[in-house]
Amino acid sequence: MPYPIDETHAESLTSWVESANSPTSDFPVQNLPYCVFRELRGGEPRIGVAIGDQILDLRRCANAGLLPAAADEAVDHHDLSRLMALSLSDRLELRHCLSNGLSDSYSPIAENRERLLLPQTSVEFLLPTHVGNYTDFYASIYHATNVGSMLRPDNPLLPNYKHIPIGYHGRASSVMVSGTPCRRPSGQLPPGEGETKPTFGPCKNLDYELEVGAFIGLGNALGETIPIAKADDHLFGLCLLNDWSARDMQRWEYQPLGPFLAKSFLTTISPFVVTLEALAPFRTAAFARTAGDPEPLDYLRDDGNARSGGIDLHLEVYLSSATMRNQGQEPLRLSRSNLTSLYWTIGQMVTHHASNGCNLQTGDLLGTGTVSGPERDARGCLLELTWDGEYGQPVPGSQRTAINLPTGEKRMFLLGGDQVALRGFCQRPGFRRIGFGACTGVVVDG
Ligand code: MN
Repeated sequence: MPYPIDETHAESLTSWVESANSPTSDFPVQNLPYCVFRELRGGEPRIGVAIGDQILDLRRCANAGLLPAAADEAVDHHDLSRLMALSLSDRLELRHCLSNGLSDSYSPIAENRERLLLPQTSVEFLLPTHVGNYTDFYASIYHATNVGSMLRPDNPLLPNYKHIPIGYHGRASSVMVSGTPCRRPSGQLPPGEGETKPTFGPCKNLDYELEVGAFIGLGNALGETIPIAKADDHLFGLCLLNDWSARDMQRWEYQPLGPFLAKSFLTTISPFVVTLEALAPFRTAAFARTAGDPEPLDYLRDDGNARSGGIDLHLEVYLSSATMRNQGQEPLRLSRSNLTSLYWTIGQMVTHHASNGCNLQTGDLLGTGTVSGPERDARGCLLELTWDGEYGQPVPGSQRTAINLPTGEKRMFLLGGDQVALRGFCQRPGFRRIGFGACTGVVVDG
């Protein structure tokens, strides 16, 4: 386990940034997630760390000589790519420096607080890094089983699922930061009842997928592999990820090569990257396979991964329609799940991805796949929650159910004006709760 639990995780640690000490803040001094921001009044993109409702400007910290030497060049950049490529010891040194600087009210960072801190309301957040490659997995066995039972009621889970982490290459160019509107895509829609030909038009079954994104830190050279015992060393941090999905387009196009245009129109990620260092107290065992399930093949098997390859990360999805927002209604929570529901650990995804010699690169983004749990309210997309509901056409006797909004509106899939917000947080007795901020997007028609 390369990521130590140390004094930076102490529950008693507080910050001189008062808002960070609020129990409801996602960003206490134990978290220290990195982000890229630009001041609303203009200027270049810069690297920051979220603390309470503020951003610590790391470029200004470096210019003032307040950071370790190895971090100086890494933070003097327009995105996190150089930071992601630092060695683990350099990353830990920076974390300790920031932890001291933000907790000790007499630190040089505290003494220069006027120049170094900005309110989060005064900045816009940008993508944390240029995403060169985006791969999406399918690692929740509950999601795979639910989706499989809609397509193949008698044979929901394909025989490869428990042996191989299923994934596909996604589209990197359309990965965007939280707040980007989701413009309803058009595409080929399958022939309807009594029709023989597909049509081309706006997607009618627009959906979100609750996922977690993992950024690769140090990559591997082409032809080299990443042993499972070393997989976590190659991870930099996690974010929230919404894999927007056009279900009707997907149903028509996905065989035999998998999703294509049903997914590539937009993927949204949260701006804050929570580091593996910060997540150390929340590591947990890998998924407990039920008796009779096959053991992973040797290259995906490791005691450390079995013991602490999982991450106890709580995830939530909220929906608010335009009418709800106009009426001042709170967003409706649609689901709650946990990353521990994944059948495969993120480390196993990394190792599997590189097992053929494919070179993972710094800043590559891996999506976990929809994080659904076993309970009904733990389903991480509308396809599962409404059981493939087609708005206005419930099939008698089927499990199809509409979602009732507090305004009396109903939803099977997303309509124009709907806002989807993903949230995530880790909590455990003896440690400070840390959060991921939000990953949001509003559906725009036309
Ligand atoms: Mn997905």
